[in-house]
Amino acid sequence: MTDLFDDLPPLCPACNQKQSTPLIFGIPSQEMLVAERLGDIVLASIADDPEVKWVCGNRSCGQRF
Ligand SMILES: [Zn+2]
Repeated sequence: MTDLFDDLPPLCPACNQKQSTPLIFGIPSQEMLVAERLGDIVLASIADDPEVKWVCGNRSCGQRF
């Protein structure tokens, strides 16, 4: 069982960083746009892989998983 907004993001499978950012699908609210600007979340289109829930916070990695 995994929660989308768990306080402890999973480790990146590519680089083992713990600073994963939740990937949010759909039409963003105003609050979500602000959160994205702050780097708290990453907004994605519904065309992206629905299995992907996280983006690695390591800029040189950027793995989605
Ligand atoms: Zn990574």
